[in-house]
Amino acid sequence: MTSNARAPARIVIAGGGLAGLRTVEELRALGYAGDITLIGAENRPPYDRPPLSKQLMMGAVHDTSLRAELGSLGADFRLGERAEQLDDGMVRTDRGEYRFDRLVIATGARPVALPGPGRQWFLRTIDDALALRETLVPGARLVIIGAGWIGAELATAAAARGSEVTVVEAAAAPLGGAVGTDVGARTAQWYAEAGVELRLGQAVESVQDGGLVLAGGGWLAADEIVTAVGVKPDVGWLQSAGVKLENGVAVDEQLRCSVPGAYAVGDCAAFWSGRFGRRMRTEHWDTALRAPAVLAANLNGAAQRYDPVPYFWSEQFGRMLQYVGDHRGADRLVWRDPGYGPHWAACWLAGERLVAVLTVGLPRDLQQGRRLIESAVPVDPGRVGDPTVPLRDSAR
Ligand SMILES: Cc1cc2nc3c(=O)[nH]c(=O)nc-3n(C[C@H](O)[C@H](O)[C@H](O)COP(=O)(O)OP(=O)(O)OC[C@H]3O[C@@H](n4cnc5c(N)ncnc54)[C@H](O)[C@@H]3O)c2cc1C
Repeated sequence: MTSNARAPARIVIAGGGLAGLRTVEELRALGYAGDITLIGAENRPPYDRPPLSKQLMMGAVHDTSLRAELGSLGADFRLGERAEQLDDGMVRTDRGEYRFDRLVIATGARPVALPGPGRQWFLRTIDDALALRETLVPGARLVIIGAGWIGAELATAAAARGSEVTVVEAAAAPLGGAVGTDVGARTAQWYAEAGVELRLGQAVESVQDGGLVLAGGGWLAADEIVTAVGVKPDVGWLQSAGVKLENGVAVDEQLRCSVPGAYAVGDCAAFWSGRFGRRMRTEHWDTALRAPAVLAANLNGAAQRYDPVPYFWSEQFGRMLQYVGDHRGADRLVWRDPGYGPHWAACWLAGERLVAVLTVGLPRDLQQGRRLIESAVPVDPGRVGDPTVPLRDSAR
């Protein structure tokens, strides 16, 4: 047991997703014996989201619960309850008030909607996913707005289920916002191969019953419309609380926010990265999984830093994509491409350092790239781009 005299007596966690649950688990693993209350807006025990657009959408699984037994954690799980306001040392919900010594904000993110009165599906919750799956029947005309990670994964599953799928994307390439146009463009042919129509450079004006009004004129008919144009941190309930918000809850390297005693973690938290020299907010499962270990230690009196090399994966069109690092500060893109077959990698360099790698079906390059990014050693760009040389051997 590592709890010490500074351990707070009462911890309230707002948000019952992976980050919230992992915080409870890590606190108990450290021997923290005080009161923990977890307030979760969804009427369900915490569950995993990545399978929602993959195995669950394919029909291979129906339940993605994260933990069979919540009772063993000895926490007060307030499910179906929404935090609405933060006052001095108190969270007010739609059902009650909770005093805290420490607060953890883990309210995640929510999908962005488009204008228009037509019905838009979103893919964020398990209830969204189960209901949407029912509509993916052979011949149904599904239009997905957005060729990002979620749009690509949903297109994969819907096409496999026999729906007629069209993906409408405002940018010039799929995944353009995430990995840039050059890299994203290499994924465009996957759509056609799967029988999915991809319309690039096509913004949507509004969602109507039965279809989309396209920017510049035009109508695209649809039986079902899914809007997958990104998410926003779910922090509206903190607006009046004096919490510094900067694309999410601004937290320092120890995950502390501007209000004393309050912390944030997961999709809603914009943490300061000393490694990359900027504030970062990831929407990565790996962050929600691992950051709570650092947070729990800090709640328990430690002063640990959370400064990861971020990691994300996506499964689309029969391929495994893995991304590690952050390429926003990069000045050079180096392809690592045998020139044949379905496997390739994109490597981003800032000066002589590798700062990010995207691999398609190359998990070894991903692992070796991650170590090079972590160690920040100088690399030889020529060797980085030579697929016959193990990536780790590109270190100078
Ligand atoms: C369909 C899908 C597929 C994904 N696939 C991948 C993948 O392949 N790889 C990857 O790395 N990541 C993936 N992700 C992202 C990953 O799931 C998220 O990064 C992760 O779920 C973040 O966890 P979180 O606990 O921070 O937030 P969330 O999972 O969003 O949980 C936050 C919870 O807080 C609740 N909440 C919000 N506001 C309040 C409030 N005011 N009061 C109380 N509760 C509130 C929400 O209802 C929600 O239940 C995927 C996400 C989705 C939706």
